[in-house]
Amino acid sequence: MSEDDWSDYGQDTRAIRAGQRRTREQEHSDPIFATSSYVFSSAAEAADRFSGKQPGNIYSRFTNPTVRAFEERLAVMEGGQRCIATASGMAAIASVAFGLLKAGDHVACSRGVFGNTTLLFQNYLAKFGVATTFVNLTDYRGWESALQPDTRFLFLETPSNPLTEIVDIARLAAIAHRNGSLLIVDNCFCTPALQQPLALGADIVIHSATKYLDGQGRCVGGAIVGPNELLEKEIYPFLRTGGPAMSPFNAWVFLKGLETLSLRMRAHCDNAGALARWLETRPWVERVYYPGLISHAQHELAMKQQSGGGGIVSFDVRGGRDAAWKLIDATRLLSITANLGDTKTTITHPATTTHGRLGDAERAAAGIGDGLVRVAVGLEDLGDLQRDLSRAFPE
Ligand SMILES: *Cc1c(COP(=O)(O)O)cnc(C)c1O
Repeated sequence: MSEDDWSDYGQDTRAIRAGQRRTREQEHSDPIFATSSYVFSSAAEAADRFSGKQPGNIYSRFTNPTVRAFEERLAVMEGGQRCIATASGMAAIASVAFGLLKAGDHVACSRGVFGNTTLLFQNYLAKFGVATTFVNLTDYRGWESALQPDTRFLFLETPSNPLTEIVDIARLAAIAHRNGSLLIVDNCFCTPALQQPLALGADIVIHSATKYLDGQGRCVGGAIVGPNELLEKEIYPFLRTGGPAMSPFNAWVFLKGLETLSLRMRAHCDNAGALARWLETRPWVERVYYPGLISHAQHELAMKQQSGGGGIVSFDVRGGRDAAWKLIDATRLLSITANLGDTKTTITHPATTTHGRLGDAERAAAGIGDGLVRVAVGLEDLGDLQRDLSRAFPE
């Protein structure tokens, strides 16, 4: 079996086979290398490893075979040359920032990104002299006018959280590249099973492996995928030194997760799509946000760019915050938690949780109303989800 060239193989085969290097034990499943360090056959070999003259394992902060198997598999699935695994999704974003940025640099970031990503740029990178301009995701003019000569990268998520807005990755990549900037896409919501940003022109893909890559809510982890040279020269040295490494056990869980990723994502899309269409017919629902619906503002673009609508459905409940809380509190099956990407369906009130730290005006500008509810649709029976969401407002 060829170890490196997966170009002739389909996406499902890659997800199951890529990255594994069988040891002398001839194990069928990937082994977990629970070791912090590695031994050398001689002082000269140790010297060659440390200087980089000879490739190989040194220390598990930056070289571990189980972690490497996960990196190789995810790189192949995203169509990237290289992947670097990290301790969490935030560790991936922080590592990209520390690796690529210096004082005086500028970042353009979508307003619709994960809350901690906003805080990282706004509160922490600002301390090191990196300025960030926040832009509405689908405002192409806004992106263009935010760019400066020192803009190192544009950062975004598509679909956005919680309103599932979609941006044209190819169009934004062209805008970024004209300015000599990189485009970084957090592909957490779609995963490579539904969307491959690198093929559309993005330079780097970020993952919170905690979500769909694991898929069963067990481990925290992250990943960075992109061109070999950029990752090897600018980001990997930071990881080696700074230390936000993924544990071998977590890498093993994610490897297992990748094997069933496309199956699970198809099932998440089917369940979410059916739930979204049902919600549109409920009298207590004002509006539904789901890329797979014809009523979605960027439905056509979504269906061109993604091979499915994804697992996140948001909707406005008539009656504002009281009605939204009543609906959430009446559920018995759904988990009231902000996590997503699990087989278990979760339900959140964004205005008072994930987006609670925004001011009222900022939240209104972002379109996040008091009646908005976000459901990360899991893999339970659709009828049970519908029954649970109907408890507050029996018809
Ligand atoms: C959860 C999440 C992150 C952060 O990942 P952690 O693994 O929790 O650190 C980043 N981006 C998106 C879109 C997320 O949903």
